[in-house]
Amino acid sequence: MKQEELNNHLFNLAETLLGDDHSLSYKMRGNSMYPTLKPGDIGKVEKCSPHELKIGDIIVFRLNNILVGHRLIKISNVNDELVFLAKGDNSPTTDLPFKSDAFLGRLNSYQRGNNSTNIAGFKMKIKRFYALYFPKLSLLFNNLNLRVNSYYERFTIGFKSLKQNISLITNQSHKELLSSSIIAFFQGILPFVIIITIKSLIDYLTQTTKLDAHQQLIFVSLLVITALVFLVNAILSEINGFFSEKLSQSVTHRIYEMLHKKHASLDLSHYENPAEQDKIHRAVQEASFRPIKMINELLGTIKSIAAALFLVTIFVSIRWYLIVLLFVAIIPGILVKLKFSQKAYKLKISQSTKEREMYYFNRVLTGFPFAKEMKLFGFFGFFLQRFSNAQNTLFKQKIDLRKSELRLAISSQIFAIILIFFSLGYVSYLKLSGAISIGTVVLFFFAFQRGYSVLNEFFKSLTQIREDNTFLNDFMSFLNMPTKSNAQKNVQSHFSLKKEIKIENVSFRYESSKREALKSVNINIPAGKTVAFVGANGSGKTTLIKLLCGFYQPDSGKILFDGIDATQIGQTTVCENITAVFQDFALYNIFALENIGLGNIQTPIDLEKAKKAAEAAGIDEIIEHLPNGYNTLLGNLFNGGEELSVGQWQKMAIARAFYRDSPLILMDEPSSALDAASELQIINSLKKLSRNKTAVIISHQLTTVQWADLIYVFDEGEVLESGNHQELLALKGKYYSLFHTANDKIYS
Ligand code: ADP
Repeated sequence: MKQEELNNHLFNLAETLLGDDHSLSYKMRGNSMYPTLKPGDIGKVEKCSPHELKIGDIIVFRLNNILVGHRLIKISNVNDELVFLAKGDNSPTTDLPFKSDAFLGRLNSYQRGNNSTNIAGFKMKIKRFYALYFPKLSLLFNNLNLRVNSYYERFTIGFKSLKQNISLITNQSHKELLSSSIIAFFQGILPFVIIITIKSLIDYLTQTTKLDAHQQLIFVSLLVITALVFLVNAILSEINGFFSEKLSQSVTHRIYEMLHKKHASLDLSHYENPAEQDKIHRAVQEASFRPIKMINELLGTIKSIAAALFLVTIFVSIRWYLIVLLFVAIIPGILVKLKFSQKAYKLKISQSTKEREMYYFNRVLTGFPFAKEMKLFGFFGFFLQRFSNAQNTLFKQKIDLRKSELRLAISSQIFAIILIFFSLGYVSYLKLSGAISIGTVVLFFFAFQRGYSVLNEFFKSLTQIREDNTFLNDFMSFLNMPTKSNAQKNVQSHFSLKKEIKIENVSFRYESSKREALKSVNINIPAGKTVAFVGANGSGKTTLIKLLCGFYQPDSGKILFDGIDATQIGQTTVCENITAVFQDFALYNIFALENIGLGNIQTPIDLEKAKKAAEAAGIDEIIEHLPNGYNTLLGNLFNGGEELSVGQWQKMAIARAFYRDSPLILMDEPSSALDAASELQIINSLKKLSRNKTAVIISHQLTTVQWADLIYVFDEGEVLESGNHQELLALKGKYYSLFHTANDKIYS
């Protein structure tokens, strides 16, 4: 049903209910009643004829196809027909006029929480009076009220999330945080203590004329105290450096721990969805520095608060109203910062995709995997251009924002300087008229200069904390990203593979794709047998392997291990019982032995077992000939590493898979990078190793899999044929033509 039809339907239903003397309540979704009813208030509507309406009534009528509650401000008679005008909070002028047929009913009371307010009550009558006779003033107050409320709400929500974020990131660093806070407090106070001791010295020097023993003692004491305060300040700054480092390390440790754990629990689909990739990108990028920055800002705030307390005392001792001037001087600058920090955040969000694009082009330009093709085809300029375009767009947007901030920031600074100039002039005048001493003038100059920067820093820190917190909220929302897979859910059944794996009517579509990758696929994989999936590229074979591992859930249909639904077993348990070689196997720049041992990381690495797996994969001899045998670092990322060929890396991946002793072996194009002899060796090993196991193998080389017990032929997400090699050839269908095309190619 279209939205308009639905609204009509609801409107008629409401009218009928009211007509039948039923009462009707509705919940406010926004602040749209004049004077304001808040979101969540429940208005009680009564039936009333349009002729009974009086100016000032709060009425419910249909406006632009929705029901709204407004205050009636005018009734006129046009061509013998009543025309009404009503007004809502959201419109500074009056809403469109409407006729009787749009009118539904009148509000007689409303409920907020447990309190019910009658429209005929005294309070509402006063509001009505104001709304009618001082509409502009009433609207102004309403809007002001709404604005204050929304600021207050935003502030409380922001404060709550700030508290949560801080406690989450400092969860393991309470001691360091406390020490740093105490140091920050004293660091805030000490500069002022220094100013006071200097003031005392100056006053002493200007007032003392003769230097007897007593005066000398006072002078030396003052000097010693000043020097001591300097010393304490310097020592505190050193200690602070130490504790900051400790705090920073502990927070960074915590953040990366959360980041990595979350990554480990994310579904594969999160990495394939551009919007979620933006979110992940922001989280990873911000996690590296935001939390530390925020903690430092917080410590800065503590420092500023301590300083401000001292500052107030100093100003009160000179002239209290000068502190008001100081505040007024910095406020415009703060407002500018607040406004632009919000804008900067919005800009950052809007730039996420472009930024990822830029990083990608940077990776192409600087990454080793792209270097060969780049040199050969000479497309360095192409990617450089793409990178520069993305970078220029991002930079320009940032500069534009800075430009608009700069104008306002300079104006606010000019304003501040005028006030400072005025204050300095006033204090000089006080000295000239003999009201204060020269020491007090110096104290004021220092205090004013320090106070200006302290207050500025304080408010700057607050705006920074707000900005950091907004970014941290992004990080938190990344941590709270829901995972669809059932990896974490309670395992209800055990994994069993004694009979078969049954794939029943499984259909699946990737989130980012419009086409179905698998369409009602039915497959039976008998336990202890080797089953092959063959078919053209993109026909869905790999997708089914991914579903078997539980990386994705079927949109419909079931995957059953010995009759038990995989969802009841849980992805973690399913994975524990599978070993696999993926088409896009990974290269790990770690030792050769570790590379194989990763296949069963739950137990300590067993060298003999690893050697057997390497032998089966045909990589044993190559490892033995490496400079340190199984203890050789692989890859060329780090010093002393030995790079392997692609085929050798693939054999390492196969050895890793063979190292794990599991009942189900999945192999997706395991010999794509291998020479014919190696391929034969892998197949022979697989035959040996899978003797008492169940194996699924994908290969585009039909000769590689013709020995399989059962072969399924895939085509565009469907299973076209199944049977063993001979049966499929006899069918003279898709398999037959694939087989002959492949052979023709080989022998032509
Ligand atoms: P095969 O293994 O038979 O070559 P796949 O199972 O990899 O085929 O792919 C089946 C279909 O799913 C193809 O149309 C492919 O474009 C699509 N596809 C594969 N992986 C993804 C993905 N991560 N996101 C979206 N579509 C995908």
